[in-house]
Amino acid sequence: MDLSSSLYGFYDGWKKDKGFIGTTQKGALIPFFAVRKTEYPVILAQGAIHAREYITAYLLMLLARHFDAFGRFGTAYFIPAVNLDGVKIAERFDGSYKANANGVDLNVNFPARFGSGAKNVTFRGKENYIGKRPFSERETEALRDFTLSVRPDVTLSYHSKGEEIYWDFHQTGKRREKDLKLAGIIADKTGYKIRPSGLSSGGYKDWCIESLSIPAFTIEVGDDGLSHPIERKEVYSVFLKNREVIPAVTEYLWTQNLWNSR
Ligand SMILES: [Zn+2]
Repeated sequence: MDLSSSLYGFYDGWKKDKGFIGTTQKGALIPFFAVRKTEYPVILAQGAIHAREYITAYLLMLLARHFDAFGRFGTAYFIPAVNLDGVKIAERFDGSYKANANGVDLNVNFPARFGSGAKNVTFRGKENYIGKRPFSERETEALRDFTLSVRPDVTLSYHSKGEEIYWDFHQTGKRREKDLKLAGIIADKTGYKIRPSGLSSGGYKDWCIESLSIPAFTIEVGDDGLSHPIERKEVYSVFLKNREVIPAVTEYLWTQNLWNSR
């Protein structure tokens, strides 16, 4: 069974809030799932924006169920697969494919120092093409509009691989401390390493940090020794390392808010 069948099957079985953030370039509906425990904080988690990293879509379906069963604080939105067209290409033809159906790398298509990343290219391909302009693709437009409509307090972008956490994008002062503190919570729960972002730009996380002024994290799942695309059976060990992330981040923010409002 391919990812699309699994995802739409999961969608049919999901009894809570759900819907579609929009469609892909080829017209496939992009599902989201919501779990509401308390109003604050709002967390948004998205996966498979890079085609070959579709293990993260399976992960997000498990994380949605887990948060539904065990989460206590916050409202969580799960978008398991932003790049469904690209995933099809990675599943059928080229296991190293990252881009969407247009050959645009969706995670460099956001207006956050657009085009200034060290690996950015200006021609179509299976990775690193920034696109004609920020938000040139339906998938990035849909993710932008959905994000602006639910106004998250924090976002998580699930990628593979390397067991690393990226958290910085030119934040300064107090924000750096706050965001690094949250990265530390994610590191504690997963055992993953916190890394500097280096010369990347145009990512969803970068846009969240710079334009929305919220903490945002890229979490790279899966041991670096695994090869792309990571096999579906690996999702259970990845899940065990990641299941406490969303409950812990939402609980931390909820508690902080309680103290700040006293
Ligand atoms: Zn990626």
